Amino acid sequence: MKGGIKMKCPKCETNLKKIEVKVQGAKHKAISYQCPKCDYFEFEPVSSKKVVEELRESPLKIKQKIVKLSQDRLGMYFNSNVIRSLHLKKGGDIYVSIPDKKHIVLELENS
Ligand SMILES: [Zn+2]
Repeated sequence: MKGGIKMKCPKCETNLKKIEVKVQGAKHKAISYQCPKCDYFEFEPVSSKKVVEELRESPLKIKQKIVKLSQDRLGMYFNSNVIRSLHLKKGGDIYVSIPDKKHIVLELENS
């Protein structure tokens, strides 16, 4: 992956869009390349590695089970400690970013 060169989607040949993903708790932005036509995307490995290294220093780590919701959808519960400390409310908006294939980062709308 070289900078400055337009990358094309390997599936449909459309120019990939470079998206900078701001990840809560990390100074670096993760860069991903997304196809505006189909759902193809890939991560820029150097930037996402930096983000993951920053987040690894985060003191809070909770093990959670993934639960089946309906049909092919899966979900995760927030326990009461997390709800209390983040003031989570039903119906609130949350942004999901995926800096690489082993991490899911959730960002709250208002902070
Ligand atoms: Zn495509």
